[in-house]
Amino acid sequence: MLRETGLVSASDLPSLDQLLRTPHMAALMEQHGRSRVTRLLRGHLQALREQIQVSPLSREALAQAVQGDALVVAVEQAMQAEEGRRLSRVFNLTGTVLHTNLGRAVLPEVAVNAVVQAMSSPVDLEFDVASGRRGDRDARVRSLVCELTGAESATVVNNNAAAVLLLLNTLANRREVVVSRGELVEIGGSFRIPDVMRNAGAKLVEVGTTNRTHPADYTNAMGPRTALLMQVHPSNYTITGFTAKVGTAALAALAHERNVPLAVDLGSGSLCDLRAWGLPHEPTVQEALAAGADLVAFSGDKLLGGPQAGILVGRADLIARINRNPLKRALRMDKMGLAALEAVLALYREPELLTQRLPTARVLSRGVDTIWEQAERLQEPMQQAFAPEYRVDVARLDSQVGSGAQSEARLPSAGFRIQSAMAKRSGLNRLAKRLRQLPRPVVGCVADDALWLDLRCLDPEDEAAFLAQLPGLSA
Ligand SMILES: *Cc1c(COP(=O)(O)O)cnc(C)c1O
Repeated sequence: MLRETGLVSASDLPSLDQLLRTPHMAALMEQHGRSRVTRLLRGHLQALREQIQVSPLSREALAQAVQGDALVVAVEQAMQAEEGRRLSRVFNLTGTVLHTNLGRAVLPEVAVNAVVQAMSSPVDLEFDVASGRRGDRDARVRSLVCELTGAESATVVNNNAAAVLLLLNTLANRREVVVSRGELVEIGGSFRIPDVMRNAGAKLVEVGTTNRTHPADYTNAMGPRTALLMQVHPSNYTITGFTAKVGTAALAALAHERNVPLAVDLGSGSLCDLRAWGLPHEPTVQEALAAGADLVAFSGDKLLGGPQAGILVGRADLIARINRNPLKRALRMDKMGLAALEAVLALYREPELLTQRLPTARVLSRGVDTIWEQAERLQEPMQQAFAPEYRVDVARLDSQVGSGAQSEARLPSAGFRIQSAMAKRSGLNRLAKRLRQLPRPVVGCVADDALWLDLRCLDPEDEAAFLAQLPGLSA
C-alpha cells in the first residue's frame, strides 16, 4: 500500500554493505579507515530507518537521502559531533590572573619549547648521559630549587595537594598532626585540610579557635603521638578583628623543643619579593625556611608562574623519607611538567628580568596606565561591535591574583563596562553567553547591571585576534 502511494518503507533502504562499496564511502574510508566509517554509516542508516517508520518518505526523498554526497555529509557531521569541544584557547577578561578554571599560569616561551622538545623526542629524563647509567628524574629540578631557595633538599610531585598528602602520609601516618583551627581551610575544588589528613592516615589535632591560637595551645596538644606541627596558608580567606596566630619562627621553636618537625603549606608560595611586581609582600619559601620550617610545600602554577606541580623543600633526611614512600611514584611529575618547571625555575636566577620574561609576573605587574591606554585604543571598535544595543565605556577595575594567592590584594586595572538602558540582568547574561560562544571564547563578569571585561590579561599581541572575531557577535 505504501508503494501505491509513492512512499517507501524501511526495507527499501539500501544495505550497509551496498553503501560501503560505493566510491563515495571508499574515499571516506581511505581518509578515516574502515571501522569508523562503517560504525557511523550504520548509525546514520539506523536513524533513517527510525525516521521512515515514524513518517514515511517519498521515493525521491529516499533516493536523495542515500545518495553519495548526502551520506558523506552525514558521516562527516557525525565525526564532528564525536570530536566534541576540545580544550580551547579563551580570552581571560575576568580580572582574575591565575584563574583555576582557566588553567592558572600561562607559561613562558622557553618553557613551551622545553615541553615540545620533551614530547617530540627521547630525552635524558632518567638517564645520566655522562656515565650511561640510570639517572634520577628529579635531580635537575632538585638542584635548581635548592640553589634558588637555599634548601638542603627538594622533591616534586604532581601538584601541591599531592605534596601535602605525601608529606603527611610519610611523616604522620597513624600519628598526630597539630594544626590551628584558624588554618583548617577548604581550597577551591574540594581540597580540605581535614580530609587530606584523613586520607593520608594522619590524625588531626585541632588547637586554638578560629580567630585566635596561642603558643600554649600547641604545646598543650603535643604528646608522644605527635608527628608534626603544621602551618597552612589560609589562601582564599582572611580573619580580621580580634585575632592572634603563632608565626612560623615561634612555631618552629615550639616544634623543635619537642623534637618534632614543622611543615608549612605555603599554598601559592613565591621565590621572590612580590613588591618588585607591585604586589603586597607575600612570605617567600626562603623566609619560611629561614624561620625554621623543616618542610615547605608550594604550587608550581600559582605565583611561581610555572606548570602544575607541587614542590617540597626542606631537610634532606625528611625529603629522603618522602622519596622512599611508594606514593611518590604514584604522584610523580611527568616529563612535560618537569621540562616546563626546569625552564621556569631557571628564569628565577635573574629575578630582575622576571617581569619581562615570565607571563605571570608580566601580567601581574602591568600598570593601570598601560591597561587604561589599551582600553582607550580598543574602545571605538568595541563600541561598533556592541552597537546599537549596548554602550561600551572604559572603566577603572580591580584585578585579583587568583588561586587563593593574596586574596585581599586588589590590583588597579582598566577595561570595559558594557551596559544597555534596555537589557537588565538576563540580557547581560545572554550577551556574556554570546561572547563565550565566539570561536575563541571571551570570558568576562556580569555584576551590577553591567558586563565587565578586565584587560589586564589581554596580551597586546592578541588584540587583533580579539577584535577580529567581534563582528561574529551579531551573527
Ligand atoms: C592552592 C593550595 C593548595 C593546592 O595546591 P594545588 O597545586 O592546586 O594542588 C594546597 N594548599 C594551599 C594552602 C593552597 O593555597
